[in-house]
Amino acid sequence: MSDRRDEFEILVVGAGPAGVAAACAAAEAGRRVAILDNSPWLGGQIWRGESTRPAQTAARRWLERLKRSGAHVLLNTTAFAAPTSGPRAPNAGRLFVSTTCGPQAPNADREIVWQKLILATGARELFVPFPGWTLPGVLGPGGLHAMSKAGWPVAGKRVVVAGTGPLLLAAADGLKQHGAQVRLIVEQAPLAKVAQFGLGLWRYPGKLVQGVAVKGRLLGVPYRCGCWPVKAEGADQVQRVTLTGGKRAWTEECDLLACGFHLVPNVELPLLLGCELDAGVVRVNEFQETTQTGIYCAGEPTGVGGVDCALVEGRISGLAAAGRTRQARELFRQRAAWHRFRNALNRAFSLRPELRTLATADTIVCRCEDVRREALEPFADERGAKLHTRCGMGACQGRICGAAAQFLFGWEHGSVRPPVFPVPVEALITAGKTADSNTFISEPTE
Ligand SMILES: Cc1cc2nc3c(=O)[nH]c(=O)nc-3n(C[C@H](O)[C@H](O)[C@H](O)COP(=O)(O)OP(=O)(O)OC[C@H]3O[C@@H](n4cnc5c(N)ncnc54)[C@H](O)[C@@H]3O)c2cc1C
Repeated sequence: MSDRRDEFEILVVGAGPAGVAAACAAAEAGRRVAILDNSPWLGGQIWRGESTRPAQTAARRWLERLKRSGAHVLLNTTAFAAPTSGPRAPNAGRLFVSTTCGPQAPNADREIVWQKLILATGARELFVPFPGWTLPGVLGPGGLHAMSKAGWPVAGKRVVVAGTGPLLLAAADGLKQHGAQVRLIVEQAPLAKVAQFGLGLWRYPGKLVQGVAVKGRLLGVPYRCGCWPVKAEGADQVQRVTLTGGKRAWTEECDLLACGFHLVPNVELPLLLGCELDAGVVRVNEFQETTQTGIYCAGEPTGVGGVDCALVEGRISGLAAAGRTRQARELFRQRAAWHRFRNALNRAFSLRPELRTLATADTIVCRCEDVRREALEPFADERGAKLHTRCGMGACQGRICGAAAQFLFGWEHGSVRPPVFPVPVEALITAGKTADSNTFISEPTE
């Protein structure tokens, strides 16, 4: 099995800003480090595809630093499972990974043995179901922006951007730059909260400059606070969206509706590894170490706080994992400042309760398995709903509907089972062969 096993002192999962910063810090401290990501590029959500563009200087600086650091990079590589039971030595563990293409594939399904593990798995967009949200042409703002960056044509398309959070502005700006006609941006948070958040940005000059520049580029695009979508309609594709400010509803014609309600942390892998959560985010100590010894977590899974928060948490986790705790401590003040920003962000863009009532009885909540709201109402938790309705058992493995149902019904995060990402069957077979009796794939018993 030696060709199916790699060993590293420190393994970083996720190559967004948090993971890249962690890998740099750990590798520069002289450790043997690997960083892996399921995407074909480095940089996570915000820096994807930016390494070659001189405009993104922070991205370029970090990605060049990573190259110089000597960390081993594994792209197109998904961490999908780990031994889930039985004792684990305090500073050692294993992850099963699958590489789908690139120089490592094929036959690149294998286990990686680590002494310290840093989880920097990021976040994804939250979708709140409403009638018509599953129509073609209704996408997440971040997702649509990413697709347009990758070449999906949006030029000339009439786009309404709706939901909540600063990502709406970033996405609208990006879509406009790609030639879309951004008709309107609709923010569910009340104007007073958004204004208070904006006024507090003087403490973060970089964010203030960025915000002013984006608003400048979006001059002429109406930005309405305290409003949200209630219905999307169209024959085969979204053609119009009905919006409301609570009292009065109106309709906007559009070719695309970019709608997302901030982000939810990707906590599936941390949960699989036994890390505890606190209010939906991974609980960590001052060195970013989780409740599992030797497993650290940085960036969005510990709370959605943006790129600067992710970077400083990543650096602290990398230094701490490499045993450089004195240097890690020097970053605590910086992190505290970004945690204040994170708290302000989450206060300003908290979701209004009215959004829980947008989905009607026949609105689909789980789009992979066509499960409607009325079918989920009788259940008290995610597990019951899953067993009886197949909600969360489709291709997305609950990544979309899980968070939506938690928001709609107040359910806790359910238990997580491997594989945490869909992988080829060969990967599961390899994991089964490589593993011992503690692994997720058990031998059939008579
Ligand atoms: C869709 C989207 C678009 C965004 N666009 C913007 C924007 O335009 N501007 C802006 O300021 N902020 C944007 N953000 C927010 C920004 O991405 C974050 O603030 C910042 O990138 C957080 O960095 P991170 O390293 O914590 O996570 P991320 O950047 O999300 O990186 C996490 C990485 O981990 C990988 N990963 C997760 N699980 C696994 C696994 N099991 N195996 C292998 N790899 C794994 C993911 O593919 C991802 O590349 C966006 C967020 C999202 C979700």
